[in-house]
Amino acid sequence: MEGVVEVKSGGIILDEAVIDGYHNLKFRVTTHIHSDHTVDLNRSISYGSRIVGTNLTLKWLKCLGVQIPRSQYVPLSMDESIRLSNGRLRFESCLHIPGSVQVVYERDDGVRVVYTGDFKKPSIKTPVIDSDILIIDAVYGRPDYVRPFDNDVEHILNSFIEKLLKMGPVHVYAYYGKIHEVMLMLRENDIVAPFILPPTHYTMTRYAEGSGLRINDYLPLTSSEAEEIIRDKYYIYFNHYSNHFNEQYLNSSNPYRIVLSGWEFNKPIRRLSNRKWLIAFSDHSDFNGLLEYVKYSNPSKLIVNRRRSNGAYEFAKYVEEELNIKAEVR
Ligand SMILES: [Zn+2]
Repeated sequence: MEGVVEVKSGGIILDEAVIDGYHNLKFRVTTHIHSDHTVDLNRSISYGSRIVGTNLTLKWLKCLGVQIPRSQYVPLSMDESIRLSNGRLRFESCLHIPGSVQVVYERDDGVRVVYTGDFKKPSIKTPVIDSDILIIDAVYGRPDYVRPFDNDVEHILNSFIEKLLKMGPVHVYAYYGKIHEVMLMLRENDIVAPFILPPTHYTMTRYAEGSGLRINDYLPLTSSEAEEIIRDKYYIYFNHYSNHFNEQYLNSSNPYRIVLSGWEFNKPIRRLSNRKWLIAFSDHSDFNGLLEYVKYSNPSKLIVNRRRSNGAYEFAKYVEEELNIKAEVR
């Protein structure tokens, strides 16, 4: 199985396709919109690579300012595949953010290569694919990167927001896509407060609804309806994580603020200031989840993608020792 996969600067090369990195090849596959997976995407576009992603991922990239010429725009649904010189490449679902996928390369010689991309809840919400060669980004690759409260954090976040809403408006700050996971979760848990969104997030939400997600009752920040709701002080406002330091909007309503980050291992809620908390809501599996994926996928060889890992070497060593699976870092 030598030479089947190459990894260059985080990009995974499978014959004429490179996944989540730049290389001068016919296809550039994008598992999802996060910036560490769209590195040098404009360079791929300039080179002339065809940009392959789920319909929602390609639409969201457009919202984020990426312009893909029509001739290079290749949406791929779950039941389609792309022919490469030694096999067929297809997507498999996963739980991370809307639009995100795993990539499976079924080679004609019977070798199956799987790149997990980012995921959480393996076996439960992210299907674990049997593989011969598995490529993983060990985002939480060290044995102490474990969130023991991971299974309860959705409930914790939900009840906390519910409690705060009784006292005033709530602002939630999170990365792209995680915002949509949270909006969906709140609706599933019968939180009916309207969602107020800045323009980019509003457009992304429209596309997400177009692809089948049901978020309901969300308004652009600048609309007159939103203005009225803001006066009533019963709403949840969402914005990108980076804005929590210096929010420009709606400060006069004296909101409660929640910042979401997975880099928190001791307790699920930590107070940052008088009206601001950090909640350890992650869209990634912790160390145990990564290990579980590898164990059940049971590859002959694991490749740990160094560029997007934290603790790649520790993870590879742990897999070799504890699971008896050959692992290398690239
Ligand atoms: Zn991601």
